[in-house]
Amino acid sequence: MSEYDLVVIGGGPGGYVAAIKAAQMGLKTACIDKQTAADGSPVLGGTCLNVGCIPSKALLDSSHQYEFFNKEGKKHGLVGSVKIDISQMQKRKETVVKNLTQGISGLLKKNNVEWLHGFGSLKSKNVVQCTSEKGLIKNLSTKNILLASGSLPSRIQSLPIDNEYIFDSSGALEFKSAPKELCIIGAGVIGLELGSVWRRLGSNVTVLEAQTSFLDTADKDVSAEALKLFKKQGLKIELGTLVTEAKIAKEKVTISYKKGVERLESSFDKVVVAVGRSPYTEGLNLDEAGVKSDDKGFILVNEFNETSTKGIFAIGDCTLGPMLAHKASEEGILVAEHMAGAKAPVEITHVPWIIYTWPEIAWVGPSEQFLRNTKKEINVGKFPFRASGRSHARGETEGFVKIIAEKNNDQILAVHILGSNASELISEAVTAMEFGATSEDVARIIHGHPTLSESMHEAALATLGNAIHY
Ligand code: FAD
Ligand code: AMP
Repeated sequence: MSEYDLVVIGGGPGGYVAAIKAAQMGLKTACIDKQTAADGSPVLGGTCLNVGCIPSKALLDSSHQYEFFNKEGKKHGLVGSVKIDISQMQKRKETVVKNLTQGISGLLKKNNVEWLHGFGSLKSKNVVQCTSEKGLIKNLSTKNILLASGSLPSRIQSLPIDNEYIFDSSGALEFKSAPKELCIIGAGVIGLELGSVWRRLGSNVTVLEAQTSFLDTADKDVSAEALKLFKKQGLKIELGTLVTEAKIAKEKVTISYKKGVERLESSFDKVVVAVGRSPYTEGLNLDEAGVKSDDKGFILVNEFNETSTKGIFAIGDCTLGPMLAHKASEEGILVAEHMAGAKAPVEITHVPWIIYTWPEIAWVGPSEQFLRNTKKEINVGKFPFRASGRSHARGETEGFVKIIAEKNNDQILAVHILGSNASELISEAVTAMEFGATSEDVARIIHGHPTLSESMHEAALATLGNAIHY
């Protein structure tokens, strides 16, 4: 007899959400997580709540307010300048994280999910071993297992993290002061967000990026405009720059890099390695239960997120696909439903991507370039925020909304937004696309005035060649 219907390994946004959903659907569920907070207490929430989405957004919000008052305040009649107390900013961030992580343990309790603090590993396809920090071992027999072990920052071997001069993203969330000269390696989402935080707080930030193009995953209109804006803000973004080595001497880190055929060096006070994330499956004993992974370590799953072993499922960052918290959570919900008897495959169609720089970047669906390369016949409607009344009232007129619809039936294929609050605006696009909306559908929906969302409306009109305000 199995003790549990489901044992989840990992209490991040994939694992804890799946555990709650499974318990709500009547499955006897346990969730194992090994994470410990700075004060030594067990903590849930994974990367997202502890060292990812939430603390980075807390710092982005604080640093944005600081920059806004000092750079834009005068125009609004706000007199004088504001100083930043970085230790208070960090304290606020810690409080935000603590409140939210404690909230999750409350949610598990409320939903009768058993939370075990320890390291989970597979003993067989039906037994999970949980080893506590003190080495106490508990074996849990279970009908199903869900692997939601997440990811860790990728490393450059020649730049070992010492948390004094060379940091990963977690370390860069903890700086006690703004480094004078800060180097960020990698102009991806995490590098741009962290670079923005410390630039706003006074660092001279240089971003070194190996690729010769900027933000390859985004639409080219968006990435080209964003690059201009970020450079104007003061981020020094060097493309085509492959970092190879670092040397520490006289309280400086000297970075060696290749730029074309040149080999160059630059010195900084601190360096952040933000070169992506890798799946974290160490110690899970995948082989023990016949669970297969690819050569990069991503656990392989089928359309139901089931691994090569029946009854063992995997979701989130430890599997292929976008490394995003909402992707992990949605997979968690769908897998839990599947285990409880729903037979629909785990189909995640419209995943929004968001970069919380300012202006923000958000999109859903493929880029215009991708669609044109696949020879799709499309209509493109673009509306700039400089033609939006609300954007003028806010004093934030940078960027645009771009809607791409299929020519023959007007169905929306993609929406790309560069602008303030793009992170919130993109939800309308996701909803519309999830319901198979056409650009005419969006154009016929009443949008409140004056709102930023009117720019979605106008971009939809523009797709049909009929924008009113542009
Ligand atoms: P994780 O959140 O990594 O959780 C996995 C958990 O499993 C961890 O607690 C880990 O300790 C535990 N674990 C692993 N192995 C074991 C084991 N053997 N036994 C017990 N426990 C184990 N995504 C967004 O969508 N929006 C954002 O704004 C965003 N910002 C980010 C900012 C930063 C700086 C970073 C680093 C990431 C950000 N992400 C963001 C990515 C997001 O954090 C991840 O995609 C998300 O956390 C993945 O969820 P997960 O549940 O798969 O894994
Ligand atoms: P992301 O995967 O979106 O987090 O982005 C990470 C970025 O780091 C990618 O754009 C990579 O091209 C970049 N990158 C990886 N290795 C290096 C390196 N050695 N030097 C500079 N950039 C790098």
